[in-house]
Amino acid sequence: MGVTIIWDHQVPTGLQMPVGRRIDLVLGTSPGHADAEGLINGYHPERNQYDARAVLERVLFMKRRADSRDPALLVVTHDLFIDGCDFVFGLARPSTGCAVVSLARLDNAYYGRPSAFDDLADRVAKEGAHEIGHLLGLEHCADPECVMFKPETLDDLDRKRMRLCPACRARLRDGPSGEKC
Ligand SMILES: [Zn+2]
Ligand SMILES: [Zn+2]
Repeated sequence: MGVTIIWDHQVPTGLQMPVGRRIDLVLGTSPGHADAEGLINGYHPERNQYDARAVLERVLFMKRRADSRDPALLVVTHDLFIDGCDFVFGLARPSTGCAVVSLARLDNAYYGRPSAFDDLADRVAKEGAHEIGHLLGLEHCADPECVMFKPETLDDLDRKRMRLCPACRARLRDGPSGEKC
């Protein structure tokens, strides 16, 4: 089963290959790449954020257009939220094989620090592999260095290593389940 990463046109160029290679390193599956079609929906002007669940509907639409049943991860620059959360780094819905990850809070610049390409590529890959991990049936993991650990902050995300823990690697064979963020 192939995994596709769909890139929104606002994502800076040059990230696709470095992120794809890192995700391959974590999950052992080399993702394909596609360009996103159309605009991202789910904008809430009062929050200046996008509803990640509405964005997942867009991912499903693009998958159907491409006649694909394989897991797909959309990468956007739009800041995402879901009901009950101020923000999410990403969201996965295993029932439809759709996931999204946002760069909005992954760049140093968001935190007033100088941008660094490798930091950004590492974080997009860790979050992307995390959401794809959900699509492949993985749950959250208690090991703070495992990609399937759920990060609340950028520090949590940076503490994770570019790998699955041995238990998650062993679980990768199991099937998908419910919605996760
Ligand atoms: Zn783990
Ligand atoms: Zn998660």
